[in-house]
Amino acid sequence: MLHHPKIYRYLHSIHHQSKAVTPFTGFAFHPLDAFLQAVPVFTSCYFIPIPIDLVLLHGFITSLWAISIHDNVNMIPFKGILYAGSHSIHHFPWGENYNYGKITSICDRLYGSYCDPENITGYGY
Ligand SMILES: [Zn+2]
Ligand SMILES: [Zn+2]
Repeated sequence: MLHHPKIYRYLHSIHHQSKAVTPFTGFAFHPLDAFLQAVPVFTSCYFIPIPIDLVLLHGFITSLWAISIHDNVNMIPFKGILYAGSHSIHHFPWGENYNYGKITSICDRLYGSYCDPENITGYGY
């Protein structure tokens, strides 16, 4: 949704200004973009009684994950999980329409937006 042409340039394009991703890129969002990404967590808490400790733990793990997919270090050998190599492609000027997923590549593979870093010559991942 954040890549929809009507809202992309106002919100999510700020995250894509990082062409060379670093761990700080994982936190470089328009405030409304960050809020919209957290809406599923807040709405889940409304319908399911989740202890606040678990909500905070989720926030901590999500922050570590944001660093992990932007730190240019590939620690996850399983291809079903997105990792730094695959998310870096999402930041390439030609790669904005690939690897939308934040955690897994399942939806990208189902809808044809997955780009395997190993298939890119000279990429190094
Ligand atoms: Zn990113
Ligand atoms: Zn994006």
